Amino acid sequence: MDILGAKRGSNVSHHEYDQTLNQLLVEMDGLKAEQGAPILVMAATNRPEALDSALLRPGRFDRQVKVDLPDKEGRLAILKIHTKHKPLAQEVNLEDIAHETFGFSGAHLESLTNEAAILALRDEASEICEGHLHEAVEKVMLGEKLDRKPTAEELRRVAIHESGHALLAEVVRPNSVAQVSIRSRGNALGYVRHYPKDDLYLYTQAMLEEQIMVALAGALAEEEILGARSTGAAGDYEQALNLVERMLLSGMSSLGVTDVSRLDAEHRQLVTKAILADLEDRTKLILLKNKHSLVKITEILEDEETLSGDALRMYLIDVA
Ligand code: ZN
Repeated sequence: MDILGAKRGSNVSHHEYDQTLNQLLVEMDGLKAEQGAPILVMAATNRPEALDSALLRPGRFDRQVKVDLPDKEGRLAILKIHTKHKPLAQEVNLEDIAHETFGFSGAHLESLTNEAAILALRDEASEICEGHLHEAVEKVMLGEKLDRKPTAEELRRVAIHESGHALLAEVVRPNSVAQVSIRSRGNALGYVRHYPKDDLYLYTQAMLEEQIMVALAGALAEEEILGARSTGAAGDYEQALNLVERMLLSGMSSLGVTDVSRLDAEHRQLVTKAILADLEDRTKLILLKNKHSLVKITEILEDEETLSGDALRMYLIDVA
């Protein structure tokens, strides 16, 4: 779609492109369900930012589905598709290969199965064995630079970090975690997805404090288990500071109701620090009390990469 639907006017010498796009826009507006079966028009692009904005208006391509790199389960499904018509040996466990190929795209996986077939051919083997697949994984990995492939050490840290967020969230607001994952997505190395609270306009002090504690828990879990924090928590601190700011503005700090804008920076800093220090202590206490569960879900997350909220809660029955 980026070739057909690039921003108009960007190609002075190629007026026919613009005309094609204009015609496409006209045709899409003319699509009516009464003309027979309902029609759904889908298009794919790697560069959504380069598209002409008219294409994305309501009634045209008004929904965007972002396709991220597949997780373990997705990789297994993709591997099954690409090995369907290849002679696989009985011993081959595709689940192992899916586990090994963290960060692979669909194209990488396809190339992996082709490489494995070529290796088998070179061996004059009649079937593709597990060994061929493992060798192909390395070939694809070393041969092509993957966007990002965290080291095992990094993955472990991310797993601990996200487990910290998830555990705290479940303690302060049970049943609130929808999913926790250590698959990188956008700029984040991992994430915890929370069920949104029904549209809220007001937040109580307790709710704000809980949110801050959940934000702090990632770095504190790293510190608790690995002995030090990392740069991965910068976004969490920003979020925590924003929430503290809201508390100050709402008179929830030791200052009470006050004109925050007339406060000098140093005083403000002190109050912010005091709030954060107190919440950090409370968060640490919860993590320490449930360290056993924290370690457990870290291990499971390292292995599974993604856990649904329900699966997570099964391992957290005894937390408090
Ligand atoms: Zn975090």
